[in-house]
Amino acid sequence: MLKTKVLLTGNFGVGKTSLFQRFILSKFDERYLTTIGVKVDKKQVQLPEGIVEIFLWDVAGEVSQDKVPISYFLSAHGIIYVFDLTRPLTYQNIESDITYLKKLAPKATIKIVGNKKDLVTEEQIAQITASLNVPHDMVTSAKTGENVEDLFTKLASEMFKKLKR
Ligand code: GDP
Ligand code: MG
Repeated sequence: MLKTKVLLTGNFGVGKTSLFQRFILSKFDERYLTTIGVKVDKKQVQLPEGIVEIFLWDVAGEVSQDKVPISYFLSAHGIIYVFDLTRPLTYQNIESDITYLKKLAPKATIKIVGNKKDLVTEEQIAQITASLNVPHDMVTSAKTGENVEDLFTKLASEMFKKLKR
């Protein structure tokens, strides 16, 4: 079994804690619960090539604010950068944030995720996609669960390839 550390990061309110809960507990909560510090839990992903155990870190604080301890990122095998499809402010720094993360954790697999898919139309998603300077990997809804399992399976598979090479 391959043990991996994966960090959720991105602006306030984009749905990091909701994606954490959806993936780990298969549930969704409408309440906004401010994350204090860091929450860690684990779940196994079964792939054809083997089992990947993901230790998922739900970290408080934004990438750009430097409030997240750098050491959290240094040892990460995977980083999920989440933005909110309904709030342009949450993806305006995406390019510099990703550049920063790639420098901090060059070996990590980074996934860029637009969340709250249930609140936007396909047309709006297409517009956002066209406006982004760095392409996103996935659009998810922590509320309905759409693409959440898929996100973690793809991430697990990519980390597996990198680490087992
Ligand atoms: P965090 O600050 O990044 O951890 O964001 P939260 O997970 O706490 O979510 C912030 C707010 O957005 C909460 O009220 C959530 O219920 C809501 N939310 C999160 N994900 C989704 C989603 O996919 N769809 C919808 N409609 N609301 C969401
Ligand atoms: Mg949170």
